[in-house]
Amino acid sequence: MDKILSGLAKFGLDENLVKDLFEEESSSSRPNGEPTVAKAIEPPKETDFLLLKSVRCPICDGTFRTPVIKSGRAKRKEPDLDLRPRFEYIDTNKYDIASCPKCGFTAMHRYFGNLAPVHAKLIKEGVLMKLKNPPAKAITDLEVISYDSAIDLYKIALYTSVVKKAKNSEKAYTCLKIAWLLRGKIEELSVDAEKNKEVIAACQKDYDTFYKQAFDGFVKAMSSENYPMAGMDQSTVDLLIAAMAYNLGQYEYASRFVSGLIVSRTAGSNIKNRAHDLKEKIVEKLKK
Ligand SMILES: [Zn+2]
Repeated sequence: MDKILSGLAKFGLDENLVKDLFEEESSSSRPNGEPTVAKAIEPPKETDFLLLKSVRCPICDGTFRTPVIKSGRAKRKEPDLDLRPRFEYIDTNKYDIASCPKCGFTAMHRYFGNLAPVHAKLIKEGVLMKLKNPPAKAITDLEVISYDSAIDLYKIALYTSVVKKAKNSEKAYTCLKIAWLLRGKIEELSVDAEKNKEVIAACQKDYDTFYKQAFDGFVKAMSSENYPMAGMDQSTVDLLIAAMAYNLGQYEYASRFVSGLIVSRTAGSNIKNRAHDLKEKIVEKLKK
């Protein structure tokens, strides 16, 4: 076939690109007759799932940019039993927090804006005046946050919520997030479990502490706070508590919440299905 694209060279295009306009699909990848080389598909980078968002700091009124998850880009995987969200190629939990590079105010996005003046005062005096340096630097380009940096920020957020006398649910949710991050870090390290044995053991110890704190905090919050709690309705919190109790080996306690969810008139079908699955696991454990 003659060059059907002749004349395109003056636009800088390759006239030889098309040898056969309607060639078989399988050979279309070798326009110049080169042998097909199986090209490894590179996995997407973590930054592909992020974008920079401008945030206004409620403490110092400065604005800064922080990486957040692009909506709809990352593919959601089945969450863990205790509802830890999981996505392909990225742990979104790392990006659920913002830290002002000017004054150092650090909080989960959910708790970042709209601070009551009394809380702002407590945070300034109890946290920001004590910080040696803001924990996060100003950024202009997308950067991946490591597990360690994310965990540090969440710990500062937890410290901040203690200082501002936050609700138990806020503190419990922050502990849960830290535990989830540690779980993610352990998963990452487990790729080479033998080499990372000591670090994994240290993470596991921290994990147990934060997970138990989160559980105790939510149990306390349930008896004193209204729903939604940390953004979750009652059936979601019940399922979370049941799953956490299960993970902590408190099967009888978990069972109570699961039974309640199964007969609940308000819980959605997704929650009910998960409650049924959890019930099977509990029955299995109680048999032993
Ligand atoms: Zn600030």
